[in-house]
Amino acid sequence: MFRAENISYSAGGKTILKDISLDVVPGEITAIVGANGAGKSSLLRILSGERAPTYGRVTLDGNDIAELSHKKLARRRAVLSQFTDLRFPFTGVEVVLLGRNPHIQGGESKLDRRIAIEALEVVEALHLMDRRIDVMSGGERQRIHLARVLAQIWTEREEESRYLFLDEPTSSLDIAHQHLTLEIAERFAANGLGVVVILHDLNLVSRYADRVLVLKNGQVRAMGAPAENLTSAVIEEVFEVSSVVVDIPGGSGAPLIVPFSRIK
Ligand code: ADP
Ligand code: MG
Repeated sequence: MFRAENISYSAGGKTILKDISLDVVPGEITAIVGANGAGKSSLLRILSGERAPTYGRVTLDGNDIAELSHKKLARRRAVLSQFTDLRFPFTGVEVVLLGRNPHIQGGESKLDRRIAIEALEVVEALHLMDRRIDVMSGGERQRIHLARVLAQIWTEREEESRYLFLDEPTSSLDIAHQHLTLEIAERFAANGLGVVVILHDLNLVSRYADRVLVLKNGQVRAMGAPAENLTSAVIEEVFEVSSVVVDIPGGSGAPLIVPFSRIK
């Protein structure tokens, strides 16, 4: 598992994260929520090894990730950044094949290409495989990049645990594709993948996440099961928004969260 121990992070003379500890467990979806600027993306970058913490450390199966080679880390975990502005005239399938880079020795194999195509199928974007990414819509592009990170951690064999770090993967998607994205996360988690996902839609968190970490000004305000932690009181404190949280008889079992107005 990925383990963050007492992470703090300062940049630009500012404390951005303060004393955060978290385990990312195979088979679980952990959601991170919080206001704009709360430190979510910074935390994801540190957890995934893209950035070093100022204090504390992150380990993968007990080994400090700072000591793992870039390639080794890239085979164990894939990161979908909040902003992926790849504006080269690559086709959909070429972008997805970029995800296979850590696995490719010499040149791409038939297996790499098959995985890329399966990943495109999973995100319902097979029809975009030969279309240029620079002319795709925002939501189409976002699904292609999701396929790219899926291809990166795709495996046909039982191996070491793998992890997916997704920073607002649903931000450009229509509601059906938002659910599709979380269903994919759910399916991969059921196969033993550890998932960390930053989301703004608290109902997606309520419905799909096993655990939620609520960040406020770089600190953990609440952590645990969504139903116990996404309460009106926490939402009010963290987002300054009034909400009602209701149980829906016959629904998915997850409480429905209705944020309805800003507290001025
Ligand atoms: P979130 O993803 O929750 O919206 P971020 O983690 O991107 O927030 O950023 C948290 C805060 O830290 C923001 O105020 C941002 O401007 C600031 N920040 C992040 N990285 C740096 C940096 N390298 N230098 C200065 N400020 C930074
Ligand atoms: Mg962010």
